[in-house]
Amino acid sequence: MTNEYLVAVVGAGPAGLFGARELANQGAHVMLFNRDIKPGGLAEYGIYPTKYMMKAGLRKQFRQILESPNIDYYGNISIGAQGDLSLDDLRALGFQAILVTAGAQGAKWLGLPGEDLEGVYQAKDVVYFYNKLPPNSQQHYRFGARCAIVGAGNVMVDIARYLIRQERVDEVIAVVRRGPAEVKFDKKEMEYVIANLDQDALDREIARVRPITEAVNQDPKAVRAAMLEALPKAYEKVSDTRFRFEFLSSPVQMLGENGLLTQLEVEDTTLIFKDGDTKARGTGVKRLLDVETVIFAIGDKVDETFGLPIEWNEFVKSPAPKYPVDGLSYEAFDPQAGKPIEGVFVGGWSRKASDGLVGYARKDGINAARAVWEYLQTKGPDDSTLGTILARVKELPKPVVTKDDIKKLEAVEAEEAQKRGLEEFKFSSNEDMLRAMGLFIAA
Ligand SMILES: Cc1cc2nc3c(=O)[nH]c(=O)nc-3n(C[C@H](O)[C@H](O)[C@H](O)COP(=O)(O)OP(=O)(O)OC[C@H]3O[C@@H](n4cnc5c(N)ncnc54)[C@H](O)[C@@H]3O)c2cc1C
Repeated sequence: MTNEYLVAVVGAGPAGLFGARELANQGAHVMLFNRDIKPGGLAEYGIYPTKYMMKAGLRKQFRQILESPNIDYYGNISIGAQGDLSLDDLRALGFQAILVTAGAQGAKWLGLPGEDLEGVYQAKDVVYFYNKLPPNSQQHYRFGARCAIVGAGNVMVDIARYLIRQERVDEVIAVVRRGPAEVKFDKKEMEYVIANLDQDALDREIARVRPITEAVNQDPKAVRAAMLEALPKAYEKVSDTRFRFEFLSSPVQMLGENGLLTQLEVEDTTLIFKDGDTKARGTGVKRLLDVETVIFAIGDKVDETFGLPIEWNEFVKSPAPKYPVDGLSYEAFDPQAGKPIEGVFVGGWSRKASDGLVGYARKDGINAARAVWEYLQTKGPDDSTLGTILARVKELPKPVVTKDDIKKLEAVEAEEAQKRGLEEFKFSSNEDMLRAMGLFIAA
């Protein structure tokens, strides 16, 4: 048996998988721990369900990565202070380095009154729900006739698409704090929803906000034209949902009756140009929108319970990295002790929450792995604890999913899809997935 570097990678999304491949190619032995049964992270459970081609292409790449004999996969295992194993456990087990690529699993609430009402949700939970990730897939979501989505990025458009094309609600309102010129979604994404866009309402909104946006040299008409470029390629209309924007509007509170959301209060904002930057400021003028659902699509933050220090919603990185890649720090840092956390690295959305598409997460995971490899070169390879680690994983009081199990699951789901004449079939509970792999243990 050869003596290899032993690395734990936490999280098998795009960053973790491509990072693991990079380390394995260098010759390290990688143990990939993943909270979800299936690998893929948001590529599996975030990207819109009917982007079949994109998802199939990514799954194929992930499968190839897991073929590597230097990579072990342990799905259904959560790492963290409240997980099946903690970071300290991993360290004590003798891993020489730990790369955390667990994405951004925390919720970014604004701390507004009424956030606890039924009908108020975080985008990630809704996206996990319609992408069939347990436990969200088994929870009830109240999508009323009128739904507001707070945000102006691609995730807002994805959720609007779901509400328009699947839930077929009466009205979807995108509530945007800034003006039309600062929307963040790719204009191409509008193709999925533009057939339902209320263009008269858009024109009225643009006329309403124009004096404010023009005062800061923003041309809302150019944005209108850019949005409407999606029209020739518009997806066919499948519902009568009215989709509209409320620009220069910032949520203040959610109001309800008997625990159920009935209204969203928003405050009008104005734009101020200061220090080379445009900022939105509240004007004090408030309005009520009658809605039964509010979904916050304002980005995520990292998991606060994970066990790494956090500042500004991110894991703290060493300000003076020893192994920088492209000028970035991938090294976890303890600000209280004022020093790096030896051997612990972060990559992908765990390094920078909600930043970039799959290609970016992939690159970031690879770069993080390069930093890990540089660090390992300061140590000798040591896999003497491999046997102990395998025994510990086996002892965990729950089914541990290996890459062979994943192959079985994929085969069963593919067969099921064929039987049902579907493009794709996904089990929506862990029990069903475990049963399909022959791992189900009744409680
Ligand atoms: C709604 C939505 C739609 C998107 N659509 C697109 C698109 O169309 N095209 C595109 O290119 N990009 C899209 N993206 C972006 C893309 O999904 C991300 O860039 C990418 O998935 C981030 O990769 P990651 O590996 O850093 O994190 P993630 O993909 O979030 O992966 C994190 C992994 O860590 C695991 N994990 C979490 N916590 C733990 C823990 N405590 N212990 C062990 N494992 C853990 C999870 O199970 C998961 O497998 C979308 C994102 C969202 C949110």
